[in-house]
Amino acid sequence: MKKVGLTTTIPVEVLYAAGVSPVDLNNIFISAEKPMELVEQSEMAGYPRNVCGWIKGLYACTLNEKIPEVIAVTQGDCTNTHALMETLQMRGVKIIPFAYPYDRDRKFLKSEIEKLMSYYDVEWTEVNKTMQKLTEIRSLVWEIDRLTWEENKVGGFHNHLFQVSCSDFEGDPLQFKKKVSDFLEVAKNKKPLQENVRLGFIGVPPIITDLYDYLENIGARVVYNEIQRQFTMPFDTDDIVEQYLLYTYPYHAFARLEDIKKEIAKREIAGLIHYTQSFCFRQIEDIIYREQIDIPILTIEGDNPGKLDARTKMRIDTFVEMLA
Ligand code: SF4
Repeated sequence: MKKVGLTTTIPVEVLYAAGVSPVDLNNIFISAEKPMELVEQSEMAGYPRNVCGWIKGLYACTLNEKIPEVIAVTQGDCTNTHALMETLQMRGVKIIPFAYPYDRDRKFLKSEIEKLMSYYDVEWTEVNKTMQKLTEIRSLVWEIDRLTWEENKVGGFHNHLFQVSCSDFEGDPLQFKKKVSDFLEVAKNKKPLQENVRLGFIGVPPIITDLYDYLENIGARVVYNEIQRQFTMPFDTDDIVEQYLLYTYPYHAFARLEDIKKEIAKREIAGLIHYTQSFCFRQIEDIIYREQIDIPILTIEGDNPGKLDARTKMRIDTFVEMLA
């Protein structure tokens, strides 16, 4: 299958309907053996030090993996995507832009999906059929999420990992379905985990690799991964346009806020970790969450891929102790 890189979640139903295999560049970057070397590779190519580590990772991954084509989300994701697209284009990568409408306009989004369909030469019937198949897999991942917060049988890392993988279904939905089913089989027979503090994690997926383990070692557990959960499209609809309109991440902070508040109450969360990425415009949105959410929030910042630094560990320790 032809590989197409993604800079973030897009309607992958179109790609699978067209027989194309999507590769979420974020996932291959962070799961690389030495992700820091990818960041350095981009800096050697001229990417500034004060640009988000994810963007640098995406640039190097695309070139190293020889991905010929990338679908870049030009609206509703990252302010750095335009320059990423341009620098990749200069290196011979074909760029296909995709935009989410800031005002969640149905007509606009439908026309963006149709543009993608026309590029990949697929019809609505095939896309809708593919949506049904992918929703079946998504529903298994929803069950992992339910086992996390309701039955306390899944830790924060696996909750994060399976949900984040729904952006591309690891390039092979059938294989991924099997992996999820095997995991569920084991997880549902586990004894419930017994932590003192239930946490929520909001913000972009962390570039820090040991956050969830660290929290579990000090008696806390993440029972809600906000954006990762959104990647699973946890909505009751069979209309693909509606599905990507309900998806909160590409729209404004207030769309996310509503979802966050609902899940805090449902999952009985004591405190939130707001993860922010160095040099990311989304850091500014911390102002909104702090003002609008009435449970304690700890804002932490990650820069390059790697483990938690000592200062952040100390801040997390104090936060968890305070909540306990
Ligand atoms: S963390 Fe922020 S700056 Fe980095 S890729 Fe994501 S949206 Fe862009």
